Amino acid sequence: MAKRVAIIGGGSSGLCAIKACLQEGLEPVCFERTGDIGGLWRFEEHPEEGRASIYRSVIINTSKEMMCFSDFPIPDDFPNYMHNSKIMEYFRMYARHFDLLRHIRFRTSVCRVSKRPDFTTTGQWDVVTERDGKQEAAVFDAVLVCTGHHTEAHLPLNTFPGIEKFKGFYLHSRDYKDAWAFTDKRVIVIGIGNSGSDLAVEISHTAKQVFLSTRRGAWILNRVGDQGYPIDVIFTTRMKAFLKKLLSPSIVCHLAENQLNARFDHSHYGLKPKHRIFNQHPTINDDLPNRIISGRVQVKPNVQEFTETSAIFEDGTREDIDAVVFATGYSFSFPFLEGCVKVVENQIPLYKFMFPPDLEKPTLAFIGLIQPLGAIMPISELQCRWATRVFKGLQDLPPSADMLADITQTKEKMAKRYVKSQRHTIQVDYIPYMDELACQVGVKPNLLALFLTDPKLALEVAFGPCTPYQYRLRGPGEWEGARAAILTQRQRMLRPLRARARACPACSSTVPHVFMVFSIGLIVATLIYVLLSP
Ligand code: FAD
Ligand code: NAP
Repeated sequence: MAKRVAIIGGGSSGLCAIKACLQEGLEPVCFERTGDIGGLWRFEEHPEEGRASIYRSVIINTSKEMMCFSDFPIPDDFPNYMHNSKIMEYFRMYARHFDLLRHIRFRTSVCRVSKRPDFTTTGQWDVVTERDGKQEAAVFDAVLVCTGHHTEAHLPLNTFPGIEKFKGFYLHSRDYKDAWAFTDKRVIVIGIGNSGSDLAVEISHTAKQVFLSTRRGAWILNRVGDQGYPIDVIFTTRMKAFLKKLLSPSIVCHLAENQLNARFDHSHYGLKPKHRIFNQHPTINDDLPNRIISGRVQVKPNVQEFTETSAIFEDGTREDIDAVVFATGYSFSFPFLEGCVKVVENQIPLYKFMFPPDLEKPTLAFIGLIQPLGAIMPISELQCRWATRVFKGLQDLPPSADMLADITQTKEKMAKRYVKSQRHTIQVDYIPYMDELACQVGVKPNLLALFLTDPKLALEVAFGPCTPYQYRLRGPGEWEGARAAILTQRQRMLRPLRARARACPACSSTVPHVFMVFSIGLIVATLIYVLLSP
């Protein structure tokens, strides 16, 4: 009998969880509390309780080649940075292609997950669900928690004295849908994460004035990188990850900060933080500098106090205001998991951000509970591929003490690197973390073997963007389309930009030309890389 796996949530993590179970011959049952797939990415004016909520205009800030599932490239005519509606289109294609929908029980909430009395020997769980007010219990051999971590608004009103007196209106970015209510108003947006900067820009088109308040500033990256390529495609390469390891962090920060300051000096724009660029989750916004230079957005320090009609900032300045948007991030919790895990201020002790270290049997895993410098979807997918193999007994986890030691070490490293903030508790770097997972599954690309057998592919794997297809080249779950997907990824990036391609023949040669010029140097560097890398 195939083991039964309960998957909680039918967002992007839940979808790839179903697929991974099927691939490993497990029997998935996915419970989704709403009536449809997509989780956060399904925009609705009035989203259901308990589901993440986005604004109408959200465009993803991870590009299509970096965010796709590893054996299902995003169609070549889809834009590099997709609007939420396009992302939903992709998820629907994925679900249809792999026939995932029939494994989902919609409008069914998981309200309780607890160990069965014989858990020590069976590792089984009692899962209680609710549909139309009726509860049902069932036994499962394993559980994958795919409930997301951008659902519960973090609204720290206690740190803003006077907000209770304020006569205007305020809301959290979770409840923001569009700028309509802010027309001709004077508005403060608090927080300079990706929500804060997106909303400040959008609201500033119709508001009288927008103030963007930040307690520590931020480095602002662009979606559009050198030569117009998506920034993540440029930065997320194995070669760059390798060089980053070789150089001192201070030099790497210096180089990156110089590049950002060459576009606009962050100190002139009131944005320069005290911390270095890699000490904070990145804010990506191509439009913010334009809104600042045109005066539509003014950058301000933290709010010290609200009065009935104004805000007083920490530098003593005061502005009359009509509305406040708290873009202050999110918290997460797992109320249905009775006593199995404890979350304190967004900290949760999980081995590799997935497995509770103290369970007698490794039959519970968290998926997508990471904040990557990169896209979540391929990470969730690889996590699922590992978890399902652990559930099947094909792979063991280390002893509990070793897992706990690893958790402590990871936490210490994070605390050392990132500024103290509740948004920095589940940070991972894309390539190192993906490679770690890939080693567990046995699917990390073998560069040396690739250089000997397929140098063309090896070059793109080492120097090109580390796209998810790299983790389908070999090992369990190998996909025969992976090689072609890697070798054609640049075409898929350029294709949607070529609405007038025929009028612009030179475009088509840009990448190969650059590629040729650098390839000799790259080959030499690759050999050094291959010889030196662990
Ligand atoms: P979700 O999409 O949140 O899905 C969770 C699902 O679980 C939901 O459908 C919910 O209804 C269901 N559920 C929850 N609890 C239960 C329960 N008890 N029983 C049954 N069902 C339940 N990530 C990126 O990689 N790139 C980006 O550019 C990016 N942009 C973002 C922009 C915004 C504004 C926000 C807020 C987040 C962004 N993210 C981005 C992160 C985002 O969380 C992920 O992209 C992705 O949505 C995570 O998918 P998920 O399936 O893990 O969670
Ligand atoms: P976030 O990244 O957690 O940022 C929260 C911001 O609020 C930070 O600037 C934080 O400052 C500030 N803040 C928190 N508490 C505060 C307090 N008490 N006083 C003053 N400032 C406070 O949240 P987010 O911007 O909503 O982003 C959530 C996730 O969604 C991220 O993964 C993000 O990348 C993603 N996202 C993506 C897009 C997109 O793709 N277009 C858009 C929006 C969001 P500190 O740093 O000082 O703590």
